[in-house]
Amino acid sequence: MRDLDLFQMALGLVEPWYVERSEFDPAARRLDLYLNFKSGGVFTCPECGGGGCKAYDTTEKTWRHLNFFHHEAYLHARVPRVKCERCGVKLVEVPWARTGSGFTLMFEAVVLMLAKARGYRSTRNLIAMAYLIGGKLDLKPLPI
Ligand SMILES: [Zn+2]
Repeated sequence: MRDLDLFQMALGLVEPWYVERSEFDPAARRLDLYLNFKSGGVFTCPECGGGGCKAYDTTEKTWRHLNFFHHEAYLHARVPRVKCERCGVKLVEVPWARTGSGFTLMFEAVVLMLAKARGYRSTRNLIAMAYLIGGKLDLKPLPI
């Protein structure tokens, strides 16, 4: 099994998404996974739920993911905007993160479990020390 296949399965990615490449830097204690979607892939309109929307353009995004052992892990992807006949041009929702979040759903779920067990202040301090990526960490309940 190739490392990319392993990461794809571990992330639970389904078509059209796939892991295109990975970069592992042991000195920096960092793993970067680059996700992409297959050419011609279709998406659901985030506004009306209409399917079959093709990519109109893309924007690069990065999310902090759970550590890979003791290495920080980040997901990168070019996220498509689709042109829906009813709603116009909209940014699609990716299956691994909430729209507008700089963290993956799995990362946020662990943070919520920590907050429940240790309290908000202790968790906030722990996260603030460990994670320096831009993005909003929202401790509201997640739709999972
Ligand atoms: Zn729509």
